[in-house]
Amino acid sequence: MRTIDTIYIDGAFVTPHGTELFDLHNPTTGAVIGRVRLGDEQDAQRAIAAAKRAHISYRRTGKAERIALLHRLHDAVAAHADALVDTIVEEYGAPAPRAAATPRYAAAVFLDAARALEEYDFHRAIGTADIVMQPLGVAGLISPWNANAGFICAKLASALAAGCTAVIKPSEMSALQTQAVLQALHEADLPPGLFNVVNGRGPVVGREITMSNDVAKISFTGSTAVGKEIVKVGADSMKRVTLELGGKSPSIILDDADFEKIMPALLDVGFMNSGQACMAGTRILVHEKQLDAFAPVLRAAVEATQVGDPRDPATKVGPMVSQKQWDTVQRYIQAGLDEGATLLAGGPGKPKGLESGFFVKPTVFTGVDNHMTIAREEIFGPVLSVITYKDEDDAIAIANDTTYGLQAYIFSSDIARAQRLSHDVEAGRVFINGNYFEPMAPFGGFKQSGIGREFGVYGLEAFLEPKTLMGCR
Ligand code: NAD
Repeated sequence: MRTIDTIYIDGAFVTPHGTELFDLHNPTTGAVIGRVRLGDEQDAQRAIAAAKRAHISYRRTGKAERIALLHRLHDAVAAHADALVDTIVEEYGAPAPRAAATPRYAAAVFLDAARALEEYDFHRAIGTADIVMQPLGVAGLISPWNANAGFICAKLASALAAGCTAVIKPSEMSALQTQAVLQALHEADLPPGLFNVVNGRGPVVGREITMSNDVAKISFTGSTAVGKEIVKVGADSMKRVTLELGGKSPSIILDDADFEKIMPALLDVGFMNSGQACMAGTRILVHEKQLDAFAPVLRAAVEATQVGDPRDPATKVGPMVSQKQWDTVQRYIQAGLDEGATLLAGGPGKPKGLESGFFVKPTVFTGVDNHMTIAREEIFGPVLSVITYKDEDDAIAIANDTTYGLQAYIFSSDIARAQRLSHDVEAGRVFINGNYFEPMAPFGGFKQSGIGREFGVYGLEAFLEPKTLMGCR
């Protein structure tokens, strides 16, 4: 049993003013494995004050100095990769390949931000005016539990590259992972106050950061409901926001697709991170005339999907992060049954032999109408809905008939056809025949999947504001 009883302010691990203790679980076993002492509003204020003090000199730093800091952060996180992998598996049950990739990603984002910074021109001329891209100030970085290390590092990298200082409020459910990342970041030996970390509840610490007049910007990743709350609470101080929110992404299977061939990628994106991924392709759109041929192939593939111990490299679906998340997923499975969808695979309850952890059966429904609850709401678990369409236009209409717009997948043997359709899809990213990674490309959502973009130049500019200067020449 580990206890985390410090937060990080001004370059030092300090005891929080808040006294609430919060249990941390291993979702594979359900056991309590640790406890975190949560910060409160006063802790948030101390962290904001430290970041504000540090910003006075940090905003004047040049590219070379910031790039050097980013490289140090990369090296420090890379050196802690093994410890991070173990904690990620233990605390949130990420399947082994994903857990192994996360620290590599968390380290690489600092080099990516350094690259964006190197190529970026902070000054430009428009007519008689000089335009200076200026850092916004103190940034509040609020992250979810489902890829804690990656989110903390990616947001911090862009903020520091831009010349902002940061107050980080990670998910209270990821305190062991936060501690592992934080230990690494601390060893990079940055000037005090450049980044500060306060564990705490969202409506307490997160809200205080969102309300503060000394915080210029919130970069938030999490649910759409909390994103809306941040916009409302932040409006009083006219907070700049980047919001990376939920999704209900379509996987459109065109009638020329080879079902056997696309199945690994289709399930890879459907059950991504055990279904606990904003980008998961959870609505599978198939031509109505092909459902009878498609369904048995899908059922066989889902039934062959290994669910269980995340440390086993063959495991594709690990546990849900918490009992609460397990309950939520079960409610959605029941809603699917109650609203008349047909169970193709999986169903309610725990898989046989996995009764102690928060495991869910990988579940697929057919006969889903796009207006059913399971097709509209983000479930955040391994539950897929198969929806039929009549023709291409109908497929696009169903794909876009959602409040979300984070990501979309198109499967086809005709790339040109898929590319043509991609223009009609309302989503921040469209992937053809697979799942891809380009660290410098913009990431973010249309509609209620968010506001703004992260990564590369887009991520850097999210922490900058143009200032027009005239009379110098
Ligand atoms: P969440 O919205 O419940 O919490 C996210 C963070 O916000 C946590 O740190 C939480 O403590 C904090 N928070 C809660 N209430 C707050 C408030 N009133 N003010 C300020 N902060 C507050 O989300 P979660 O359950 O941790 O994560 C899952 C959600 O995140 C899903 O909806 C998922 O789609 C989304 N997500 C989106 C992306 C993306 O990039 N678009 C990536 C991962 C996860």
